Amino acid sequence: MIVVGKIETLREQLKALPRPLCLVPTMGALHEGHLALIREARRLAGPRGTVAVSIFVNPMQFDRADDLENYPRPLDEDIASCERTGVDLVFSPEAGQMYHADHSIVIRENRLSGLLCGASRPGHFAGVCTVVMKLFLLFRAEFAVFGKKDFQQLAIIRRMVRDLNVPVEIIGHPTIREPDGLAMSSRNVRLTSAQRADAPIIHRALAAAADLLKTGERNAEPILAAAKHHLGKSELLAIDYLSLVDAATLESVAMIHRPAILAAACFYGRVRLIDHMELSP
Ligand code: AMP
Repeated sequence: MIVVGKIETLREQLKALPRPLCLVPTMGALHEGHLALIREARRLAGPRGTVAVSIFVNPMQFDRADDLENYPRPLDEDIASCERTGVDLVFSPEAGQMYHADHSIVIRENRLSGLLCGASRPGHFAGVCTVVMKLFLLFRAEFAVFGKKDFQQLAIIRRMVRDLNVPVEIIGHPTIREPDGLAMSSRNVRLTSAQRADAPIIHRALAAAADLLKTGERNAEPILAAAKHHLGKSELLAIDYLSLVDAATLESVAMIHRPAILAAACFYGRVRLIDHMELSP
């Protein structure tokens, strides 16, 4: 496995690596969710293609300095996990490699980025789009795998690729969960033991509310009320948002006629967790 930090070295190495190349962009602190994406990348690249993982805690997508500072960075463990999972190349640049001091070009998506997570994290998706576009241009990957856990991010990246004719195929991978239902996240390690024990309530609340659909409920209001009631049983979390949105436009819906998403973001102290359920009428 090749590990590179410099863009020039990356360009050199890429010349010799076989195609197709499948890229898995991450911020590191790799868990089973990331490893599932890497395995999917191997399936897409084939045994003779190249699987590349980027590990970069992208400062541009953080809206809070404390979140950026406290983001876990176990780089040696991450490199070992990549090696074990059959990755061919890891790109883990310093921020100075990715951004010139006078960096002044930003990729901003203007329709989906202001909703949901974008409403509470100003500038977040511009940071995501800019770094992901830079990675696409550096790697010229045939495929890139993203987790559906960050469904808004996935929708925005698909939109960017569509609107800017980026020559890459985007693959979404289902959310990987802990046995108790909590969606795996690099931020889970920042929860106290009491918060960690409480956190599966997010998935349970969304799942319980989504079950109303099976009883024929199509109105957003009782579904949201059920999720809110369930989340209200936790004394440790604070809801950032709880929304029922159209799966394509991410706009709030009052009635479920088309595929929809019940999405939540919750704070445990300063740690913000997201999760969602897909609802199909
Ligand atoms: P991150 O390192 O959190 O930026 O995530 C890197 C990639 O892994 C993104 O495409 C995420 O959507 C994906 N990912 C993170 N957690 C999970 C999970 N629990 N299941 C599936 N994909 C995930």
